[in-house]
Amino acid sequence: METREKAVVVFSGGQDSTTCLFWALKHFKEVIALCFRYGQKHIHEVDMARAIARRAGVEFFEMDVPLIGALGRNSLTDESLEMDFQKPAESYPNTFVPGRNLFFLSIAAVFARERGIFDLVTGVSQTDFSGYPDCRDSFIRSLNVTLNLAMDEQFVIHTPLMWRDKAQTWALADELGVFELVRTQTLTCYNGIPGDGCGACPACLLRKRGLDQYLRQKGEVV
Ligand code: ZN
Repeated sequence: METREKAVVVFSGGQDSTTCLFWALKHFKEVIALCFRYGQKHIHEVDMARAIARRAGVEFFEMDVPLIGALGRNSLTDESLEMDFQKPAESYPNTFVPGRNLFFLSIAAVFARERGIFDLVTGVSQTDFSGYPDCRDSFIRSLNVTLNLAMDEQFVIHTPLMWRDKAQTWALADELGVFELVRTQTLTCYNGIPGDGCGACPACLLRKRGLDQYLRQKGEVV
């Protein structure tokens, strides 16, 4: 039966999607966390995602989609590629997995539809999008229309972080009562180190900059 009371969250166990998972729990009666194994080097993140879902009391579903990581060459799945620490002037950093959000959200839509669910949640942000084109609002809106046309349904893709920077994402986690959980139990680091991470990779630097900014705003000394 069709419902607008349930949502499927595209869930990786990182800061952004974990914040979105708890945002979804506030806005929907039931939430399913959908986690993809796309060939990422740090497969440990799936274990962390599973543990967070268990703590949140939501159904956790793992899906194997190694094709997505293998189709386009990128440093998150290819051991032989050295990770870009800076965005190259004329292109995207090699941490960009081409088509990832396109595939994830398309699969999530079919997965949700099978369960009578038409609300999807993703943690993409245009404000802090690391140069990835599939994190932009225009792409999400376009895909939402495409999914509706593709399946003749009325999907809604929710993007609670779209216009938030990392500091505002930390603020949202705090509002939702999961600041400590997000800080210590999530994995954002490209080197696979949980919590505050390696402190040196682009994902850690972005996360830390936002965290420091948020703590300063709160009046806590960093
Ligand atoms: Zn790191």
